[in-house]
Amino acid sequence: MNWDLSALFSSIIEAEEFLKQAKFKAIEFEKKYKNRLYTLNPQEFIEVLKEYEEILENVARAMTYIFLEFATDSSKGHFLSKFQQLATEVEEHLIWFELEFIHLPIDKQQRFIDNAGIYKYYLIYLQEEAPFKLSEKEEKILMKKELTSNSAFVRLFDETISKMKFFYEGKYLTEEEILSKLYLKDRNQRKKAQVALSLGLKEKIDLLGYIYNQVKKDWKIENVDIRGYEEPEDPRHLNNRVSKKSVNALINTVNENTQIVADYYHIKRKLLGYETLFDYDRYAPIKLTDKNEEIPFEKAKEMVLNAFKNFSDTFYEIAKKAFEEKWIDVYPKEGKRGGAFSHSATPKAHPYVLLNYTNQRRDVFTLAHELGHAIHQYLAKEVGYLNQDTPLTTAETASIFAEMLLFEEIKKSLTKEELIETYASKLEDMFATLFRQIVFTNFERRVHSFDELKIDEFNKIWMEENQKMFKDSVLLTENYKYWWSYIPHFIHSPFYCYAYSYAQLLVLTLYKLYKENFPNFEEKYIKFLSQGGSIPPKKQFIELFNLDIEKEDFWKKGMDVVREMLKEFKGLTNDYTKS
Ligand SMILES: [Zn+2]
Repeated sequence: MNWDLSALFSSIIEAEEFLKQAKFKAIEFEKKYKNRLYTLNPQEFIEVLKEYEEILENVARAMTYIFLEFATDSSKGHFLSKFQQLATEVEEHLIWFELEFIHLPIDKQQRFIDNAGIYKYYLIYLQEEAPFKLSEKEEKILMKKELTSNSAFVRLFDETISKMKFFYEGKYLTEEEILSKLYLKDRNQRKKAQVALSLGLKEKIDLLGYIYNQVKKDWKIENVDIRGYEEPEDPRHLNNRVSKKSVNALINTVNENTQIVADYYHIKRKLLGYETLFDYDRYAPIKLTDKNEEIPFEKAKEMVLNAFKNFSDTFYEIAKKAFEEKWIDVYPKEGKRGGAFSHSATPKAHPYVLLNYTNQRRDVFTLAHELGHAIHQYLAKEVGYLNQDTPLTTAETASIFAEMLLFEEIKKSLTKEELIETYASKLEDMFATLFRQIVFTNFERRVHSFDELKIDEFNKIWMEENQKMFKDSVLLTENYKYWWSYIPHFIHSPFYCYAYSYAQLLVLTLYKLYKENFPNFEEKYIKFLSQGGSIPPKKQFIELFNLDIEKEDFWKKGMDVVREMLKEFKGLTNDYTKS
């Protein structure tokens, strides 16, 4: 099944024409209103804001179309770059708008905000960012110098890693290839892969450490020294629309519950029949059955629709629409990109889902996950283009929830062995997002608190923070100490990792409320999704569920779901782990 893009455009030519029209509109808009915002009354301002939103939405509509065309056919790359060039030309005529707003007298801003209705928090967010913005001239200087400072180091990192070769069984492998060997069944092969990766990293470790030190220094100079953030991690919280207090409540809860991870790996060790579990055993597959059941897409569709129907008619109806109206591009094909996503497109169209479906059970979960995103994006259409997208911290609210619904549904039809396999892979997925990302954040927090670190110091902090999570369940070998050095997020986007964990645990808390029969849960949850990014998460949770995301109690609810799953896993594996 291929997707039908006619809700956006019928051809590339039509989309390009539309984008050119958007440019004319942007030029008109600039001529009409630039340097005049202060003359407007609140009603007029809202009209102008709507015009601004519409031009942006038009650009997004054309860009979505070409992006989706390109995603299924990489030979269309030249169109994509042409469109990007055009889009930049449009945006050059719009960039003044937000800047002018934050430079209006504060009482004027306030009057606009008070009358802004659905746009209220969009404007407040601009206001909150304002103190950390510099003058136009200074911003331009920073932007230009960025090319030879931070961007240069990021590029050096990317090029270094992508050129690295790891010697494995007589051949040189790329980073991606060697990492995939860590998931093999054969322990000896995993061990060899671990040695190969470690040796490769060790060879470049001085350079990788140097890059990290520079990126970290640049981050601090720009954000703390120049822009005036209190701490290096603060710009992330602002961007994620959450407070540091809330992030700390999450991090503390995760750190206090690492025993869950350790307990799981003790069971895994017994299932694998090992005396000791080493770092290279972490991803060993748990496989108790030989059979590899194929699930055709039609069957997957039925499973997902059933799971949704048991929860909510709204979920079911939107998902059904997605299948009927061909929002989904299902199978892999040549020139199509890998992975999966749901693109929100624009409120005037509908979301689009890309899959690479290969009949595996994993793929059914991916279908549920991406449809969850699509449902969220579809519901959030009503708050308009500027508000439709959520911050990263609430972006997974429907996707992971949908996976949990599917998990409940398919549990009924699996044999005990299949259940153990499915629980293991679900739990490991959860750990990768929930716990591992907080280990990364703990590491980053410590690393960023020093000026310049020696390699030994990076190694030491890395080992300590990882061991805190695994406790005595996994023995981290000497080789593992270098493995901080290839994690791209540390270089590309400092302090980004916790958001994955935040998003995951937040959903699990919601799932717990559902399981506990929270009054009118479905209705409130749908409302939550429909609000998109128009209201800050803290306010959403207080108003709809009377819960405070700045308190650890909130996060503990989500953690209970993980603990419950582990308990069920333990029960299932009892017969296999008796020694
Ligand atoms: Zn997702």
